[in-house]
Amino acid sequence: MLVKQFRCLHSSSCICTNGHLNETVIYLVFQQLNWNPRLIAAVSCVCKWFEDVARRVLWKEFCRTRAPKMMLDLQSSGSHSVDGNWKVLGKLLIYCSGCYQGGLVKNMSIPGHFVYRTRFSRTSGKSFLLPQCRTDILYVSDPCEHLDQGDEGDIGFFRGVFKSFAGSKVRKMLIDRNAELHPKEVCPYCRAKMWNMLQANMIPRSARNRLGAYEDRVEYFVCLNGHLLGVCTLLPLTDSEDVSEVE
Ligand SMILES: [Zn+2]
Ligand SMILES: [Zn+2]
Repeated sequence: MLVKQFRCLHSSSCICTNGHLNETVIYLVFQQLNWNPRLIAAVSCVCKWFEDVARRVLWKEFCRTRAPKMMLDLQSSGSHSVDGNWKVLGKLLIYCSGCYQGGLVKNMSIPGHFVYRTRFSRTSGKSFLLPQCRTDILYVSDPCEHLDQGDEGDIGFFRGVFKSFAGSKVRKMLIDRNAELHPKEVCPYCRAKMWNMLQANMIPRSARNRLGAYEDRVEYFVCLNGHLLGVCTLLPLTDSEDVSEVE
């Protein structure tokens, strides 16, 4: 429970200048609302003070409530415990970014959307790492299916996050291989530049098997802060069942 009171930073134009809302009150209200992300996003826009509380407290509680084990793991060695990253992680948990024409996936435009529930798995994440990088810890979501959107069927978008990306083998390998950052596209979650893992030749076959996707239709990007964003063309269900049996 938070009991600390903060100096009021409300701007003169803020609608709440007459009140003396403090963090404790906000905390209790949002706890009752089960850290509703739309409402957190809405109050963030009210003024700097709310934005600050949302970044430091509300998004953090949101992440901890929705994915407790994953958050505990990500936090246990640093890189994601820094204030300000909670909002990014919160968005990653609930937002499928889609793509736009001429963007990362050149020939498609699929609007981004909120996702009610997504499963992120560390075991799944292993499939997206080359064997020599498998000590890295990466969480990857199940693909969000966009039916009949591609030329040859269903498109799946998936997203993920590395634990302690700064010290990861994947990052080291990208740098050693002189992998190029995408010239203009940035991470939809944190706005950092992104590496193309396909170009860097760092997508293992196991990723395709895990997704149930066509071999040449899996592509993913990793940003400088360790967020992963991917797209694939999904095999029809019966085929993908065969694939996982073979594996
Ligand atoms: Zn989606
Ligand atoms: Zn990012």
